[in-house]
This record gives sequence, C-alpha cells and structure tokens, in this order.
Amino acid sequence: MIVDLHSHSTASDGSEPPARLVELAIEGGLGCLALTDHDTQDGLEDAMAAAEGTGLELIPGLELSLEFDRGGMHLIVLWLDPGPGPLQNRLAGLRAGRDERNLRIVDTLTGLGLPVTIEEVEEEAGGGSVGRPHIAAVMRAHGYVPDLRTAFDLWLGSGRPAYVERKRLDPEAAIALARESGAVPVLAHPHTLGISTAADMADLLTRLKSAGLVGLEALYSSFRRHEREGYSHLARRFGLIPSGGSDFHGTYKPGLMLGAGYGDLAVPGDLCEELREHAVVT
Ligand code: AMP
Ligand code: ZN
Ligand code: FE
Ligand code: FE
Repeated sequence: MIVDLHSHSTASDGSEPPARLVELAIEGGLGCLALTDHDTQDGLEDAMAAAEGTGLELIPGLELSLEFDRGGMHLIVLWLDPGPGPLQNRLAGLRAGRDERNLRIVDTLTGLGLPVTIEEVEEEAGGGSVGRPHIAAVMRAHGYVPDLRTAFDLWLGSGRPAYVERKRLDPEAAIALARESGAVPVLAHPHTLGISTAADMADLLTRLKSAGLVGLEALYSSFRRHEREGYSHLARRFGLIPSGGSDFHGTYKPGLMLGAGYGDLAVPGDLCEELREHAVVT
C-alpha cells in the first residue's frame, strides 16, 4: 500500500477542494491520505465526507510553521482530531497572525511600486488560511512576475524586500501541544531548515526528539533517491520514524502530483502504520 502524509487543499494554499484531493488519492491508488493544511482543519469535514465508504483512510492533520532562525522549520501534525484541544485552540490565533502579516506584505508591495490589495488576495484564497502563495498568484495576475517561484525568489521569500515575519510557535512548545492533543508530530521537509552540517542536524534532532518529536519527513517530492535514503537513515539513527508526503498544492506547485510527487514518490503504508502507533485515540 502507498500513502501520502502531506497535502494542501483550498482550506489553505492548495488549488483543489478537499473532496477533490480524496478523489485524486483514490485515482492514484493511495490507501491513506493526510490532509495537512497550514494552521487549519477547516477542509476536514468535506474530505471526511468524501472519503466515507470509499476505503480510503483520511488522516486529520495540519502543518505549522515554527520559530527557527536558521531557516524554514515546519511541523506536520498527524492524527489531530478537530478541536477543541491544546493545539487546536491555538489555530485561530495563528490564522489571525497570518492575516496581520498579509496586510503588511500587501502594503509593502504597494510601497515598492507593485500595487496589490488585500481584497484581491482574499478573493484568490477563497476563504480559509491565507498565505504567500495567494499573494504570489495575484502578483502573477498583475504581470509583476512570470510565475509563483519568481514571486518568492524576488519579493516574498525570506530575506527579500516584501518578506514580513509573523508570530510562529516555538518548536518544543508546538511538539508538546501536538502530543498533548494526542497527535503525532513530524518534522517536515528537513532540507529547508538551513542546516548544513551533520553535527548541527544531530543537535537539532536530539533536541526535538527529547521534546517528543516522532517522525522526520524523509520521503519528499523534491528529494532524489539518495536524499530519501539518507534522511530515512538519519531518522532511524535518532529514534525517529521516516515519514513521507508529496506536499501537493495543485496548481500552486505545478507538475507535482498527489501521492506520486514528481512521478517517483511512493511512501510505503508500513511507515504510516508505524507512525499511527504513537497517536492517542480518544
Ligand atoms: P506562508 O504559509 O504564507 O508562510 O507560505 C508558505 C508556503 O509558500 C509554503 O507552504 C509553500 O507552499 C510556499 N513557498 C514557500 N517558498 C516558496 C518558493 N520559494 N517558491 C514557491 N512556493 C514557496
Ligand atoms: Zn502551502
Ligand atoms: Fe511546509
Ligand atoms: Fe506543506
């Protein structure tokens, strides 16, 4: 059995509605799909309804951005039952932080001579958790950039002129909140952490493992085979379970398929079963 433990719908910055993700998962022959929208579980109800009776198991999850000065640290949280709960109760605040930041990004872009309005961004997002990919899409529509990647590379990415910080959870605190909520925390796409030495990676994984981290996303769309093997090996060395997912965003990440990634991703169901043992069923 093949699974996908990382995906985004229209509830955050994916282009496809939650029910469409379920269809794509079934068409792709997946046994299990985790819906992991940024800071929200609002897509879950529709996804659950679509999965009902199909044999596809839908795992309730989400993705959090964490405070980390070296680079981008994201946490995939699996088997998080929709709220209330210790982590669930924090989500509205995180989304409010996004809204505030998005306003500042729009102002900054406008000040830089690239006028964009928050109304356009909200319309692009169609409700839900609004993020930079929506702003990038509006910039493309205005003809400011040829594609979303360029919007990030020139303007919206970390260190670029329209980059604006937002309040994020502390890594240890987020992991603790996930565990208190009965969920399974997985460190996402480790290549974005900005860590270049084995010693620094070892320090970080040791620290996060003692905080309660369960998995490391070792099987990821953009990784080559040797990277998938390397990160899987690294995970095991630190007592973590290798996890995997496509990070599907529909048209916001062109060419990337649910389940199959760029064509060669196949996350074994066994890893999902191993991760599941750490979920607290209520
Ligand atoms: P936000 O949640 O608003 O911080 O935006 C983060 C999202 O933007 C990530 O989940 C990615 O989907 C997307 N993203 C981040 N960096 C890039 C990039 N360089 N090119 C394209 N998309 C990116
Ligand atoms: Zn995203
Ligand atoms: Fe991410
Ligand atoms: Fe993601």
